[in-house]
Amino acid sequence: MGAAVLYSKGVSHSRPNTEDISLCYANRSAALFHLDQYEACLEDIVRAGMHGYPERLQPKMMLRKAECLVNLGRLQEARQTVIHLESSLNAKPTLVSSSHQILQRNLHHLKVKIREKENLPETFPKALTRAFEDMALGEENKQISGASLSVSLHTDPLKGRHLVAAKDILPGELLVKEDAFVSVLNPGETPPLHYGLENKWDTRVTNGDLYCHRCLKHTLATVPCGGCSYARYCSQECMQKAWECYHSTECPLGGLLLTLGVFCHVALRITLLARFEDVDRVVRMLCEETGNKDICLPEKKNPVKTLHCTNRGESENSIIGETPIPGCNVHGKYESNYNAVFSLLPHTEKHSPEHKFICAISVSALCKQLRAASLQARTMHLKSSKLEAVTPGLCADLTIWGVAILRHMLQLQCNAQAITSIRHTGV
Ligand SMILES: [Zn+2]
Ligand SMILES: [Zn+2]
Repeated sequence: MGAAVLYSKGVSHSRPNTEDISLCYANRSAALFHLDQYEACLEDIVRAGMHGYPERLQPKMMLRKAECLVNLGRLQEARQTVIHLESSLNAKPTLVSSSHQILQRNLHHLKVKIREKENLPETFPKALTRAFEDMALGEENKQISGASLSVSLHTDPLKGRHLVAAKDILPGELLVKEDAFVSVLNPGETPPLHYGLENKWDTRVTNGDLYCHRCLKHTLATVPCGGCSYARYCSQECMQKAWECYHSTECPLGGLLLTLGVFCHVALRITLLARFEDVDRVVRMLCEETGNKDICLPEKKNPVKTLHCTNRGESENSIIGETPIPGCNVHGKYESNYNAVFSLLPHTEKHSPEHKFICAISVSALCKQLRAASLQARTMHLKSSKLEAVTPGLCADLTIWGVAILRHMLQLQCNAQAITSIRHTGV
């Protein structure tokens, strides 16, 4: 496991399409093989090939591939790989005799294994469906998406939006099932660095090495961001999605986000995600919040759309006789979106002046860096797709978005949830 993590670090710090990165992937595939993670091993073998794995080492990796396929019960493919390997060995006997002998011996063992398996067809158990995903809410609440009928939604000037039990709740009853609007991997504490001859490599392992930075899945076979050596993902798809949604902006910020802490990071990511909803609407909500009409965008052509962003903002569509619940839609229904997050109370008056000061300083440092990064991207004539991801909405008016980030930082203090896991450090 240690080797896998270290090869991941190697992957993160290597340039794409070099022998270095291909060797790191190939060696990590060997580590994953020893950990019985055959699917992940196969993926790394493909990645090593994509980045130009040297021809002279190919047979070793093909043998590993065949072994993986055998262990996964994919015997047909294993056979094909063996045939391919044998023909390439016969065509180019480039290896030194001793390693050639070892390879031939392993190949022989493998062929015996395939034959045995073919005669004794095994049934592979289907992956166990995770209990929680299958847990049902029972009849779903019409007022709140993803909640059971045992709760109802209320609002209160002091507490803000909250759930109240509508009936007696049984132990273990599932009440709410909702994906997080936003999540950030908390890097956690870095174990102290031991100095010494045997420790010339930084072998410290943190959460950042073990979990996908987007979906938080535990993985040893991470795929790194091409632009930094920090962000890494469980798959190419997660990397792509993260890049499109927020990482293109976060990537050039470097170590600043780590320094400012996880709340600041979450707050930034919330505002980055808000760009994918109605940006004009969001900006108007923020203007109302700051009371500064001067920095508002010009009125939209369609002024009918009214928002329930505050208790004051009743619209003609609201349910007559009821206080509209902040963050719900015009029909009074709660939906998981930015409007719902935005209307959580920041409890500004309850935070200590010191805390508010630190939050404000952090956000202004962040905005300064965002502005610098966007200017740099513009002057460097980066690929237009990258530039687009940085500019719209966010850098156009950083004053507005700075207000949003600060509001979220204050909200997070009592609205964020942490998921923790216990890891044996071996110390
Ligand atoms: Zn992922
Ligand atoms: Zn990056």
